[in-house]
Amino acid sequence: MSVDSTAGKRASAAPASRSRRQVMQWFAAGCGCAVCGSAGARLLDFDLMAVEVASKTWAVLGRTEYFNMDNGGNIVNVAFIEVPDGVVVVDTGPSKRYGDALNALISKTVPGKPILRVYNTHHHPDHFLGNQSFDSSAIAAPQQVIDNIALEGNGFADNMYRLLGDWMRGTYPVSPTVALEADREDVGGRQFSLYYLAGHTSSDLVIRDDETGVLFAGDLAFLYRAPTTPHADIKTWRASLDLLSGMDKALLIPGHGPSDAKDESLVQTADYLDWLYGSISDSVMRGLTMNEAMVLSIPARFEGLGVVRTEYERSVVHLYPAMEDALYPVVEVTR
Ligand SMILES: [Zn+2]
Repeated sequence: MSVDSTAGKRASAAPASRSRRQVMQWFAAGCGCAVCGSAGARLLDFDLMAVEVASKTWAVLGRTEYFNMDNGGNIVNVAFIEVPDGVVVVDTGPSKRYGDALNALISKTVPGKPILRVYNTHHHPDHFLGNQSFDSSAIAAPQQVIDNIALEGNGFADNMYRLLGDWMRGTYPVSPTVALEADREDVGGRQFSLYYLAGHTSSDLVIRDDETGVLFAGDLAFLYRAPTTPHADIKTWRASLDLLSGMDKALLIPGHGPSDAKDESLVQTADYLDWLYGSISDSVMRGLTMNEAMVLSIPARFEGLGVVRTEYERSVVHLYPAMEDALYPVVEVTR
């Protein structure tokens, strides 16, 4: 999932971002007076829990919500796997504070083993802004994800500070240092298959642990949480979902929502995207404005998806302009 991409692009261009963040950090830390003393004393703690979803494979499941001051950005799934010689991590969460908590949870769950590899599935801020808590030489992603982080990471971080305040203190984007290309890699005595897909963003990495058959699908798959679309290409995303459906797997960990043994997340995400594409293209063809399209009803079968109304409204903003360009005929001016 993601914060708004246009805000990210705008913010990336603003050189003042670093100092603004420092000011926010100073206020968040408190200035020492009686008022700030009490505010600064508030303990922000994620209290992360590792759920063993397969043999020596743990998922840390986030809430199916949007970012807010109560959840502190803990709305994303990350995972870690104990392999013979160490630990493999999939995604690092939305902030330094989260990354530190994840690192501590891994040390407690798998004591004494080094973290050998950290995968970033894509460049959305809730999936990679915890990178700085890990050794950057172990962090890997496809080159396109690395490029996307370089382009938008700083703007994403700025926007997350606006949304989450002190939860973000000390966070800055850290890029992966390993550009993945191979179809498989051995990490610490375990084989992982790597799939270079797209659609949720321009580059979505999917990882399969070939020993257990657990598939880490990133944000190509959502379950009981409305999919997000700030960088989506819906036709490409649908093709990726078809590929994922055909893959051999024992369990799928979606980017958001509970773990999934029956491909329910793939069916649900495909169904939602098909409806979304149909609804928005139909609205464009009927000549509705974006505001009119935003208030249309959402089918009852999607009511169980977390934050569906909010995400639908955001998707109208994300998808409408390109859909208008694609669907409206160009009128030739002859005189
Ligand atoms: Zn995402």
